[in-house]
Amino acid sequence: MKTRVVVLGAGFGGLELTTMLSDAFGDAIDVVLVDKGDGFVFGFSKLDVMFGRQLPDAVRHPYRDIVKPGVRFFQTVVRSIDPGAKRTVTDAGTFDADVVVVALGADYDLSATPGLIEGGHEFYSVPAAFALRDVLPRFEKGPAIIGVCGKSFKCPPAPSEAAFLLHDYLTERGRREATEISVVMPFGTPIPPSPDTSRAVLAAFAERGIRFVKDALVKSLDPKRRVAVLSDGTEMPYALFLGIPVHRVPQVVVESGLAAHSHDWVPVNKQTLETRFPGVYAVGDVNGVGTPKAGVFAEGSARVVAEAIIAQIRGGPAPAAYKGQGSCYVEFGHHQVGRVDVDFLSGPKPTGTFQAPSEALVAEKARFGESRLQRWFGRSH
Ligand SMILES: Cc1cc2nc3c(=O)[nH]c(=O)nc-3n(C[C@H](O)[C@H](O)[C@H](O)COP(=O)(O)OP(=O)(O)OC[C@H]3O[C@@H](n4cnc5c(N)ncnc54)[C@H](O)[C@@H]3O)c2cc1C
Repeated sequence: MKTRVVVLGAGFGGLELTTMLSDAFGDAIDVVLVDKGDGFVFGFSKLDVMFGRQLPDAVRHPYRDIVKPGVRFFQTVVRSIDPGAKRTVTDAGTFDADVVVVALGADYDLSATPGLIEGGHEFYSVPAAFALRDVLPRFEKGPAIIGVCGKSFKCPPAPSEAAFLLHDYLTERGRREATEISVVMPFGTPIPPSPDTSRAVLAAFAERGIRFVKDALVKSLDPKRRVAVLSDGTEMPYALFLGIPVHRVPQVVVESGLAAHSHDWVPVNKQTLETRFPGVYAVGDVNGVGTPKAGVFAEGSARVVAEAIIAQIRGGPAPAAYKGQGSCYVEFGHHQVGRVDVDFLSGPKPTGTFQAPSEALVAEKARFGESRLQRWFGRSH
């Protein structure tokens, strides 16, 4: 009998895990990969599309292109997960498994920020980021706010990156003098684990006249008065609001009992990523392991789980513990990218090493994306 592994979610985590299992076993394993979407989009591509650097079709990587021995992809919605029985119900049928890997990512709760839907924009979901491509050309003057609405959010550098790219975008259109840019963030510095990166981001903000509002969240928008209300009651006027919406655990995961409530990410063993249910793992943004919510961490955690499954099937030793390490590329604008290498779990506290922005890192970031497409889809796009 082949071992059946059911992988829920074909994002960074699910794609990496599936690829490793197929590489290790080929047709000798039965991997079921489920996603409601028809293709994968890198998080950073959302910024590229909204600022007109890429076309939507160029950054969508269709799942129909996945041709991997041992892997069956189903485009369908996960309706329920029974972690005790390792049974998943989807619109395409019920899947029983030997191992279940939950890689369903984070959902957004736009209604948790009153006024956001009516009076602002978010750029974290694919449709909203792509729609901004047609909104930004109409922004001519006044204050723009890039505002974080909840404490736990994907890709902590992304709000700063959006500010740098907005600065370049407005400069190229000759509108920068008529506009202001502010970034509202719940941290004291832009990238808390790496003081060097934070210093560089703050220096680049200062050079470009971007205001950093620290230790604050956007709690609501008043669309009539065009003001954003912060957690301490401060009001900031805006002509353009680009929000990072409140993140939440997908409802189907809460209903499964794997998470206690919508803001309690799935608890896992920090070393193995296993949930309290034997043979049920949670990788990537959906878990509460304590690393940032970013693709590189989703990928790293998926690798540890894949190695554990491979060891279990082959009867080898258990893999080394998850270390929570990853490299994040940071867009600084001016056609330059910086890099921060962070380590969350090896030492007593998180550390981060910074590489200054350069054109060489622009090319390295492009190679990073290309290598994933090559590995997951078998070809570059
Ligand atoms: C603007 C922006 C920029 C970013 N830049 C970077 C970056 O430069 N580097 C980096 O490492 N990370 C970046 N990220 C973060 C990165 O995109 C995520 O952290 C990463 O995708 C998480 O991977 P995951 O596998 O956990 O979840 P995801 O990639 O979100 O995948 C989850 C999948 O589950 C599917 N799904 C959810 N619910 C269901 C259901 N009920 N039924 C079926 N399918 C379902 C979804 O369709 C999705 O495909 C960025 C994010 C944003 C928003």
